[in-house]
Parts: sequence; C-alpha cells; structure tokens
Amino acid sequence: MNEAIEQQALRFGGIDDEYEFVCECSSAECVERVTLTLRQYEQVRAEGARFVLAPGHADPEVELVVHRAPDHQVVEKDGAAGIIAEQEDPRSAETASDFEPEA
Ligand SMILES: [Zn+2]
Repeated sequence: MNEAIEQQALRFGGIDDEYEFVCECSSAECVERVTLTLRQYEQVRAEGARFVLAPGHADPEVELVVHRAPDHQVVEKDGAAGIIAEQEDPRSAETASDFEPEA
C-alpha cells in the first residue's frame, strides 16, 4: 500500500514534500498514519528489513527500533520472526474459508 503512495508521490510531488504513510507494524488492524517526507521514507525502505511505524507500535519481540522521532519510528524486523508472523495471521485463513463461490 505504501508503495502506491510512494509512486504517486514521485509523480506529483517533490522528494522533500511530506506524505502520510500507513503504519507498517505487525497488527493487521492498525490504520495509523505516519507523516514522513518522501526522502525519509525512501531511506527507510532502502534497507529491506526496515519499516515505518507509528510511535509505540513496535513489537520488541520481533522488531528492533533503529530510529525514534516524535511522530514516527523506524524498526528492523528479524527475518525469521517476520515469516512466522505472516503465517500466524488469522485473517488470510478466515477470508479463504468464508468465501462462498457463486452457484
Ligand atoms: Zn501500527
């Protein structure tokens, strides 16, 4: 989702303009927004395992806070833990079983 915001930002705005990105914490229900300049966001995503979170959203068991700012923080996710978190996401399984094909 943030990739789409980034693409749009690159087309219509400058690298130092501020945009609202979606918090990338491990909670599937999280809808928090964080404000960063495009330059800041690109620097975070240049590191594959780094993500932008709203303050206080880091899970210390799987995410290491590498940068703290008043309105956002940057975490680095441990590779293995990230995979486990994805597999345990109950939402994807539920969506598949609730889906009724058209008769
Ligand atoms: Zn969050």
